Amino acid sequence: MAEELLCEAETGAAMSWSEDADEEDADGLNGRRRGRPAVLLTLNPEFGRIVAVSLRMNLIETLIADFSGSGLAQSRCALATRALDAGALCDLVIAQIDAMLDATATPRHRLLGIGIALQGIVNADTGRHLWSPALSVTDVDLAKPLRQAFGVEVVMANDAVAVALALAAAEPALAQGLSATIMVGHGVGMGVVVDGEARWGAGAGSEIGHVKLAPDGPQCRCGQRGCIEAYLADYALYRDARTFLDLPPAASQQPSEAQMALLRERALGGDPRLEQLFGQAGRALAEAVAATISVLRPHHVILAGPGLQAFEMMRRAYEERLDQAVLPWLLKSTAIHVRPSESATIVDGMVRRTLRVVDRNQMETTE
Ligand SMILES: [Zn+2]
Repeated sequence: MAEELLCEAETGAAMSWSEDADEEDADGLNGRRRGRPAVLLTLNPEFGRIVAVSLRMNLIETLIADFSGSGLAQSRCALATRALDAGALCDLVIAQIDAMLDATATPRHRLLGIGIALQGIVNADTGRHLWSPALSVTDVDLAKPLRQAFGVEVVMANDAVAVALALAAAEPALAQGLSATIMVGHGVGMGVVVDGEARWGAGAGSEIGHVKLAPDGPQCRCGQRGCIEAYLADYALYRDARTFLDLPPAASQQPSEAQMALLRERALGGDPRLEQLFGQAGRALAEAVAATISVLRPHHVILAGPGLQAFEMMRRAYEERLDQAVLPWLLKSTAIHVRPSESATIVDGMVRRTLRVVDRNQMETTE
């Protein structure tokens, strides 16, 4: 049965023909219907499986999902990603995917697609990963070795694009028209979705995080100075807070989720220096929103990612700056939504993106 793309939906008796002759005869056929009983068809979850991988600073997160997109198993591998060369990186991703197949007893021929979400600049057409702050190697072809190892479709995207797709799927109102999702967390990225699809520009992502606020501003991971990200990303906040607070050191300057939770907890204690730090981050967020609205004029701006868990600490400075940073008529024409998503949203969105591509290929081969 696993080969069948479609299967009957479990909706109870509602979709089967009524045997009761006394029932109201709405269509006047008096039960003289022919052919198979009508059933709702749905995607067969066992038709095949999808693996999604999120590669970001010091972390490789992997999820295996069934054909309906439901997660079956997940793993997180913490390691120094900047120490990997291209070969070691490919081998590691292959090993993570193999581990997910083993953990769920999935035979290799049941794997239909692999989605890789990367922090940084991706060429979604060629599958090349051009640059990432999480890696010391540049212009790596990750798709080809994975395609060779597993013989399946490999889909690449910037991780903010994956988050944008996951949020658009969870809340269909956000998928109407042009939506720009600004993801704040291990970096600051943007995914642009048009009517729920990632079909905008070169790879649907944008590097809003590296727009400059001040030529001599704080050091950014990209190597340049004064980027929006250098005020707003979790590593920047944690790094700057450590200059005046006793906080445990972060591995390769990347604070863990627990360390960021500790920082937020300290900020709630009312330390004026932290208030100033989060205020600065709020102003940087306002600049990112203002630039996005002014350039793109999207229907929706969605502020997402784990970094938005600190939004209340940034809110006042953010709102004050936003009013000055964008023309009021433009501001009124875009709806701004705050959705402090978990980092796991990246792999969820990547499963969705990959399923879309696999579906399209299945349709093409059955035509
Ligand atoms: Zn930068």
